[in-house]
Amino acid sequence: MTDNTCVQCGAVAPPHDVVRVASPDGAFRLLCSRCFNIEIAHLAEVRAFEHPEFTPVRLHDADGVVREFHFRSLLFGDQRSLEAFELPFGNEDCAGYRFQLLGDPQSDPFELLGDLVQKMKRALAFRHLVEDAGHLVVAETTVRGRIEWDGDESGRLPCVVIDGKRVNWSEFGAMLMSFEGWQFRIELLDPSDEA
Ligand SMILES: [Zn+2]
Repeated sequence: MTDNTCVQCGAVAPPHDVVRVASPDGAFRLLCSRCFNIEIAHLAEVRAFEHPEFTPVRLHDADGVVREFHFRSLLFGDQRSLEAFELPFGNEDCAGYRFQLLGDPQSDPFELLGDLVQKMKRALAFRHLVEDAGHLVVAETTVRGRIEWDGDESGRLPCVVIDGKRVNWSEFGAMLMSFEGWQFRIELLDPSDEA
């Protein structure tokens, strides 16, 4: 179990709500998002910054499965980042949906939340993989997902997360074999862009 105690305020934060901050000496400090934001607001001279607290949101995916999302709002000087993490977070295999949206630090955080939830709904309406004879196969001809670290491969090969599910690189390769001879196009997008 990782220790998620904030070194600043002593609060034990949920795993999705902590930030590892690098110090000039190369050491890392673990801060809760609130302490991180207060520090950045001070450094970046963002006036009257208030750290928003968002309650989890439940949304249905394309199969009608309820998925619960937790939020983290971080200030990056000239930008406010809002991320949504599907639980369980801190899972070893980094599965589950994740979303991010960037906005102005002075903008209303709840407006940003509204935009993020709309983006999440659009993404959840798609199902890229379907089960066929006990195997996951590509449903149509487009696959959207996220590249993640694969501990089993020591980072040598990635795994991908599609429809919130973790798929290792060889499983992904096997899925593509039903398209043998087809062409493909890979476009890499920033986490805050819409895939
Ligand atoms: Zn703290």
